[in-house]
Amino acid sequence: MALIVQKFGGSSVSDAASVKRVAQRIVDTKNAGNDVVVVVSAMGDTTDELIDLANEIAPDAPAREMDILLTAGERISMALLSMAVNSLGVGAHAFTGQQAGLRTDAHYGKASIVGVVPERIARTIKSGAVAIVAGFQGVNDRNDVTTLGRGGSDTTAVALAAALRADVCEIYTDVDGVFSADPRIVPAARQLPYMTHEETLELAAHGAKVLHLRAVEFARKFNVPVHVRSSFSNKEGTWIVDEKTMKDKALEAPVVAGVAHDRSQGKVTITRVPNVPGMASKIFAIVAGIDGNIDMIVQNTAVAAPDVSNLSFTLPKAEVAAVVEALRSHRGELGFGEIRVAEDIGILSVVGAGMRSHSGISAKLFATLGDLGINADMIATSEIRISVVVDPERLDEAARSVHTAFGLDSESEAVVYGGTGR
Ligand code: ADP
Ligand code: ASP
Ligand code: MG
Repeated sequence: MALIVQKFGGSSVSDAASVKRVAQRIVDTKNAGNDVVVVVSAMGDTTDELIDLANEIAPDAPAREMDILLTAGERISMALLSMAVNSLGVGAHAFTGQQAGLRTDAHYGKASIVGVVPERIARTIKSGAVAIVAGFQGVNDRNDVTTLGRGGSDTTAVALAAALRADVCEIYTDVDGVFSADPRIVPAARQLPYMTHEETLELAAHGAKVLHLRAVEFARKFNVPVHVRSSFSNKEGTWIVDEKTMKDKALEAPVVAGVAHDRSQGKVTITRVPNVPGMASKIFAIVAGIDGNIDMIVQNTAVAAPDVSNLSFTLPKAEVAAVVEALRSHRGELGFGEIRVAEDIGILSVVGAGMRSHSGISAKLFATLGDLGINADMIATSEIRISVVVDPERLDEAARSVHTAFGLDSESEAVVYGGTGR
């Protein structure tokens, strides 16, 4: 008998019929002799709709109230899914994140899990019933509900799987697994049977929303076997494994495993920053002071004006206004020229563990972009990734061409079963 944690994303439970379909899948897993814990997301685009509604009523709603609102989406689906499983003759109990023992810090909107005490869940499965948990939420030490950031139900599932020492955490979604690119943008994307934690982390951190970044971090840290697969088919999906497992399977890591694209970031440029020691530290301390999450940073100094430099960085669009305001309020003390903002940028990233031992990846990437006449505005690299800022209008085209250039195209077209891609 195995303990299986199954997570169903919003597109897998978008209406009554799909809730019933998912319930049947849970019942089949249970009747096959397994213990089952389920984590469920809000139905369809409920979370987006709740955010739109709140913005109409109060665009600057307090983060605490916003979290109370958003956790409601997952509570609806956990209750309905539990009812559906019960009506198929298998006992099921629904639990909020709080009841399931998901403890978080007080960071409303993007809380981190600080502990998981799944006593009630353990008792429920011991009694022979299925436990159905609302994803994306926990409770802080003030007893207030918090949310884990967009896409956070994946993290609820992996964290629960780690705490319960589950045999596997299955992430059910609207595509057949992790692909070499977003199949909605690159139809020739190839499904990967295995993917290393490191590559998945890089893809997730750079726009591939198929797995929440923190879910991959938990999986790596606590060694949770994760299987990403479709709730609309019975096909084998993608296993997220460590590099050793990949080697044991004698799988030759492709030089480039995948391409990610991201439109969620903006770019801030500070001009004429005095070139003195400690300046960058002051600037980034101000950004960190308001929880800005900076990704790429580029600083350049003109030969003709060595006393000042221009400093550009990217960060999530939602954080741009607050960061710019904080920096402007310190202008007198920092002595820079002006701040320019590019709200809309595209970031293209190529990721592959094989990059460590292969050269020529950047040459091929830039040759491909050059042939298309696409300018690389900013560039950043890690050991296994190269990211470039490009014109957002041409991002999709760039992703398709780069995917082809690295020989990743599949013969068959990837299937997208549902969802709106929102
Ligand atoms: P869920 O509602 O199940 O959580 P998400 O919408 O969060 O689903 O994630 C699944 C979506 O992720 C897919 O429909 C796909 O458009 C997108 N995606 C982006 N990059 C990739 C990738 N490399 N592989 C698979 N899917 C990807
Ligand atoms: N419902 C939340 C969201 O849309 C969490 C999730 O789906 O994982 O972001
Ligand atoms: Mg998701």
